[in-house]
Amino acid sequence: MNKSEILVIEDEPQIRKLLEINLESNGFKTILASTGKEGLTLASSHLPDLILLDLGLPDANGHDLLKELRLWYGKAIIILSVQKTESDIVKALDNGATDYLVKPFRTGELMARIRSAIRRNNSETDSPKFAMDSLEIDFPARTVTKDGEFIKLTTTEFNLLSLLVKNEGRVLTHQFILKEIWGVGYQTETQYLRVFVGQLRKKIEENPNQPRHIITESGVGYRFQ
Ligand code: CA
Repeated sequence: MNKSEILVIEDEPQIRKLLEINLESNGFKTILASTGKEGLTLASSHLPDLILLDLGLPDANGHDLLKELRLWYGKAIIILSVQKTESDIVKALDNGATDYLVKPFRTGELMARIRSAIRRNNSETDSPKFAMDSLEIDFPARTVTKDGEFIKLTTTEFNLLSLLVKNEGRVLTHQFILKEIWGVGYQTETQYLRVFVGQLRKKIEENPNQPRHIITESGVGYRFQ
């Protein structure tokens, strides 16, 4: 089986080295770039399976680089950000980043995110059904069952659940979800979203107060896992 190739665009030598060691020992092939310019060149010549992009580069604004990559690069881009600056993360996700990690991150978490992003690269086929744990969704029939029992969802609840599930593993920003479900003009109505997520959790989670599927990414959005 071919190894997945990952391009690391990171200016700090220690972090670059650390990423290289960890990625290689987890079975990935790595390409390293220390500047934005080098990153763009290597991305176009290698067409890697995934790009790890540091937002703080000396020669380029990470957000501009991301936008430039997104003009032609359709695979996963995971951004690495220094602190939990939520507005930065939201901006990057809205500009097409697949996922994000805040430094310092745990290697296990990074590998899990990478595997999930690469899996999604390769499974763009739309399946009419989804099953996870005791939860099953039939999209064309618009039915949801938990432990084999039908759950009654409103149209909006079903649409919201479908959107989250179809982007499994990926963080969706509040703005994105609001625009997709309620339409343009609702992007700031985060309280709508909070209410509907709460209702949905009551219906699908074993313990709505400690959700295992619909995860809150504080200040950013939600992730289905
Ligand atoms: Ca940096």
